[in-house]
Amino acid sequence: MRAVITGGAGFIGSHLCDALLAEGVEVVAIDNLLTGSVDNIAHIRDARFSFVHYDVTNYLYIDGPVDYVLHFASPASPIDYLRLPIATLKVGAMGTHKALGLALNKKARFLLASTSEVYGDPLIHPQPESYWGNVNPIGSRGVYDEAKRYAEALTMAYHRYHGVDTKIVRIFNTFGPRMRKQDGRAVPNFINQALHDEPLTVYGDGSQTRSFGYITDLVRGILALLRSEQNEPVNIGNPQELSVLEMARMILEITGSKSEIVFKDLPEDDPKVRQPDITAAQQKLGWQPQVDVKDALRLTVEWFQRERSG
Ligand code: UDP
Repeated sequence: MRAVITGGAGFIGSHLCDALLAEGVEVVAIDNLLTGSVDNIAHIRDARFSFVHYDVTNYLYIDGPVDYVLHFASPASPIDYLRLPIATLKVGAMGTHKALGLALNKKARFLLASTSEVYGDPLIHPQPESYWGNVNPIGSRGVYDEAKRYAEALTMAYHRYHGVDTKIVRIFNTFGPRMRKQDGRAVPNFINQALHDEPLTVYGDGSQTRSFGYITDLVRGILALLRSEQNEPVNIGNPQELSVLEMARMILEITGSKSEIVFKDLPEDDPKVRQPDITAAQQKLGWQPQVDVKDALRLTVEWFQRERSG
């Protein structure tokens, strides 16, 4: 089997490269390294792995047979998509179009990395896949949310019109090794700040909630979805919901840091609550998270201490 992974040098993409190679799948990783890094794939010493430095918003040509196309290319941290609004819209729209075109051409299975952001600032809690969401299309987060919503619509159109066997995973907040030190998302920010005895920057009053999952659980869920007969979107995330302030305190406890917590302005349209309803993943994929959030934080802190110090 042979897989093409766009965003293959990113946080999630690089873990998928590892997991597929471990199963004996040949992997072609494509990345323009806008937010990804070759550091994430530098450890791979496998003749069945290749890397192409390329922007997937351009015409995509891959020689030879392809069985799976996994489209993971996109800025995904709010600070990145605020800094790169047009690149974010383009990779969600044109990049998804090119990746779907490749899947159609190769008669490959296609899997789209979508997001809990399609639910926006949700009015239904927790969020089942049937919820249509509450997104501000013209707000600063709209570039990511709408790009992913368009990507989902295009994916379903390729499924319905062209008969491509498509999958859509709606990924909830996920953390783990290989997140960048300057990633900007809550968990890497807090870990990095705690390890450097800098104040932890909680936005707003920290009462907004998220449900944080670990990368290994997510990768297992994605591969289960890829192998399933599901064509409808599936939430993958850990329903263990925490306020951002609770998460900051947990990271202080785990690191033993003496850092204080400071409160900063809440970004525009920051969702107030978020928790996945994972009934579909449980029933249709037999998947559920296995790693407790505290254990996941310990593993991630150890990795940051080793790899991201200085
Ligand atoms: N957040 C925070 N401090 C930070 C980074 C993020 O309080 O240094 C908050 C952010 O406002 C949001 C939550 O933590 O309410 C999760 O943010 P993240 O960027 O990790 O992901 P999001 O779920 O917003 O995409």
